[in-house]
Amino acid sequence: MQTAMHLGGEYPVKLCDFCSHGLFVKCYTCYSFVYLKGTSAEHDSGQEWNACAECARLIDTDKWKALTERAVQAFARQNRLAGYEVPLIREEMDYLHRALRQNLIPES
Ligand SMILES: [Zn+2]
Repeated sequence: MQTAMHLGGEYPVKLCDFCSHGLFVKCYTCYSFVYLKGTSAEHDSGQEWNACAECARLIDTDKWKALTERAVQAFARQNRLAGYEVPLIREEMDYLHRALRQNLIPES
């Protein structure tokens, strides 16, 4: 049976769930939770969150504010947000990351 990981090609490359940019290097597990249903920040509340090297560093060193800002900037760039839309996204990301932080299952 073919079990090798494919990068690109028929399978999409897994990107960081926080900044949607870097290639993920670390997976965080959390209890599923529901948040911001019906808003632009709605997420399928997966129990596994992939983080790239930089985002993982921010999480591991408890720099959630910096992580939120990084995610906001990445989101704004990718979605070409107007300046006035950024504070709203920041608020949603902040809420999301707080919820994630509370539901994160510590590594054993
Ligand atoms: Zn990232």
